[in-house]
Amino acid sequence: MADASLNPYLRAQQSFKEAVEILGLETAVFDLLKQPMRFFEVAVPVVRDDGSLEVFTGYRSQHNDALGPTKGGLRFHPNVDADEVKALSMWMTVKCALLHLPYGGGKGGVRCDVDQLSEAELERLSREYIRAIALVIGPDKDIPAPDVSTNPQIMAWMVDEYSRIRGENTFGLITGKPVAIGGSRGRVEATGRGLVHATRQLALELGIEFAKSTVAVQGFGNVGSVAAQIASDLGARVVAVSDKDGGLYHPQGLNIAHVIEYQKAHRTLTGYPEADAISNSALLELAVDVLLPAALENQLTADNASRVQARIVGEGANGPTTPEADAILFEKGVMVVPDVLGNAGGVTVSYFEWVQNQSRFYWSEAEVSQRLEAYMAEAMSAMHEMHQRFGVTLRKAAYLVAVERVAQAMRVRGWLK
Ligand code: NAD
Repeated sequence: MADASLNPYLRAQQSFKEAVEILGLETAVFDLLKQPMRFFEVAVPVVRDDGSLEVFTGYRSQHNDALGPTKGGLRFHPNVDADEVKALSMWMTVKCALLHLPYGGGKGGVRCDVDQLSEAELERLSREYIRAIALVIGPDKDIPAPDVSTNPQIMAWMVDEYSRIRGENTFGLITGKPVAIGGSRGRVEATGRGLVHATRQLALELGIEFAKSTVAVQGFGNVGSVAAQIASDLGARVVAVSDKDGGLYHPQGLNIAHVIEYQKAHRTLTGYPEADAISNSALLELAVDVLLPAALENQLTADNASRVQARIVGEGANGPTTPEADAILFEKGVMVVPDVLGNAGGVTVSYFEWVQNQSRFYWSEAEVSQRLEAYMAEAMSAMHEMHQRFGVTLRKAAYLVAVERVAQAMRVRGWLK
């Protein structure tokens, strides 16, 4: 195989290959998983506001549907290309199988720059993209969701377009919708909430009492602020939080509700009076029990990983730990809850949204939270068990759990002979 570090698709293939080998499965499993079962490249014609026509390129990848319809986000970004979409759909197969959701992995997107589009152009692009893929998606085939630069409004236009084509309301087509048209309560908080529950479950299995632990959170956006609040609600002492301008530190624990109020009022954490300032780099190296990177990729690297003192790192962000740092942390005995589980609260509540749409019966926020907690804890336990069985990182263990479940489904469906 070519140098996998250069290309996300080759990297994803390598992770699947390794998992198949460690599990001792037949090569047919890898042969079926190394590429999407179906991949579509579509032309998306959009009338610009000046009356001209621009044709964008869109994609949808359906990696593997052995466990159920494929599921995964739609990305509107200039860097979207075939290999990225394929790789991300493979990653969704792992995420969904690990969480025991009845889905395979999917992903899609349109190569475009949303900053160059008016609201009306964005709506036309969203509707045209759905028209282009309408025949191959559906609540029992492939269920999109928001991702980079897409949002609930875009999901609403898309579900409306699909419903018009079908001639019937089909809210189960897409998740991440506004609550007014079948979005789930608790979806916005799902990722931060799920991160804390996964991390708390690991702490439990390691004999660390989460309610007595100290926590540092990097990033105070949708994921980080919710995670800090929930960790604090569960009794943990959140001693540090940060945003892009820097962080706050209080050894006795921050009052997270006050910090959130301050941030809402000032649009920054800087200047919050009841804490000391701390840099983002110093925050990562604090002597805490739990570190939650929930901002950006590549924050823990070969340069700083050896100075991490936390016993558990819970990845809320995508890819905050480089492969070199991962190896260093593993050597040091620091347990890393990988992003594939750490931020899977979003797709799990997306699943709950689809269940509610299909059954036309809607749940309270408390019901959503309670069920999310159970799914995160179960996935964490399955991954931890694989980690113990094979002596691999939790990240690799996630692939082992997922590949074993998908292979089992393919086997009983008769795909492997
Ligand atoms: P957000 O934009 O709401 O918040 C990001 C936070 O990170 C902000 O507080 C920002 O100030 C801070 N930040 C930016 N640059 C920083 C830097 N250099 N150092 C420290 N902090 C910095 O984003 P979000 O939705 O909370 O997402 C955070 C991460 O989680 C991203 O990696 C995202 O891909 C991932 N994620 C989010 C979701 C979700 O449901 N929101 C789901 C899966 C993954």
